[in-house]
Order: sequence, then structure tokens, then C-alpha cells
Amino acid sequence: MTDYVINPPAIASLAVEDQQARFPLRRVYCVGRNYADHAREMGHNPDREPPFFFSKPADAVVPADGDVPYPSLTNELHYEVELVVAIGKGGKDIAPQDALEHVWGYSVGVDLTRRDLQAQAKKAGRPWDLSKGFDASAPTHPLLPVSQTGHPSEGNIWLNVNGEVRQQGNLNEQIWQVPEVISILSQAVELQPGDLIYTGTPAGVGEIKPGDVVTGGIENIGTFSFILV
Ligand code: MN
Repeated sequence: MTDYVINPPAIASLAVEDQQARFPLRRVYCVGRNYADHAREMGHNPDREPPFFFSKPADAVVPADGDVPYPSLTNELHYEVELVVAIGKGGKDIAPQDALEHVWGYSVGVDLTRRDLQAQAKKAGRPWDLSKGFDASAPTHPLLPVSQTGHPSEGNIWLNVNGEVRQQGNLNEQIWQVPEVISILSQAVELQPGDLIYTGTPAGVGEIKPGDVVTGGIENIGTFSFILV
């Protein structure tokens, strides 16, 4: 048994639907601009952009129900609803045709973004880290195993604020589908069990304020509802 000079931190984890046992989290990867209409709304040409990735800390994943705290240092917090892929079997240089064997399950989550800090970082040529990877920046519904979801390549994905539709897309609009995302990411890093991949958001991203009720979901995966406090 390893001795540590301080008490080791708890292992971050995500709930699994209808189970006591939780999914342990190692790393959290996110895909930027994976829906053409969202790439356009952010001022980019979706035809010419290979997928790119950024990260959040594993302990930024919190339940997408109850209260979610409004973060510090921002006056422009944005929601981005996303399909979340949980990796159950590791690998590197995974071929697209083998990629789905590495998936343990799926969920729906929100990539919360301090958009003002991101805009400043972009302008200054600085990293995005603290615009994306802050505390509680990934409210996420419990995971469902592949045995319950299959491998969704289409289905509605939506997000409402105070009952008003803000994002309404379909998984079949993803520029890079899950097998390609896993394959390309696994060329950059060796994937391991416990990794999550947030696969990008459809158009309609926008601001939320304390007191807003944020609801959303993905067809055949689940729906969530949280209050920003
Ligand atoms: Mn995102």
C-alpha cells in the first residue's frame, strides 16, 4: 500500500442509472465545434476544421440536478448540451471500426463555459483552460450502459432555459461521429477506462444567469433539470 504525505483525494465518479455502483472518472476530454451550425455561429467554417480537443478536470463532473453553482470570474456563463461517451476499455491508435468496442456507456451533459474568459483567452492567444475547466463545469446526467442505449448515431438533443427552447439538434448532425472522435483522440493520447468524452454541442449556445432552470436531454438517453444558484 502506498503511503502519502497528505490524505489522497477522493476518486471522482459519475452515477450510473439504476445502480448503486458508480463509474470512476480518470480524464475528461471535450470536442470543440462538432456540429456545423454551432461552428458557424462561433464564426468558423465547419468544412475545413478537423476535430480538436480540450480537457476538464474529472472532479468538474457534477450531477445535472438540484443546484449547480454559478462560477466565479465570469459575467457570461454559457450552456452547451452534449452527448457524453464513457470509455470502458482503453487503447491507442484505435481504428474507427473498432472504436465502439471501447465504449462503456453514454450520457448527456452540459459543457459550462465562461465565454467572456474564453474570448479573452482567444484574443490573447492564451489557453482556454480556466474558461472551460472550472469547478462544477460539467453537470452530467447518470450514465447508461451500452446494453441499454446501443450506440446512438441519431436522436434529438436539446436544452431549454426556463422552459424556452434554446438548443435543438440531432446527433446525426455531428461532423465527427463517435467512432471517429474516439479514433482521432486515441492518436493523441492513450485512452483508459474511466475517461469521458463530451462530443460537442449543436447551435444555440447562450447565456444563463443565477436562478435559471436549465433542462435538456437526448432522446433514448435521458433528461436532466438543474437550477443555477
Ligand atoms: Mn462544448
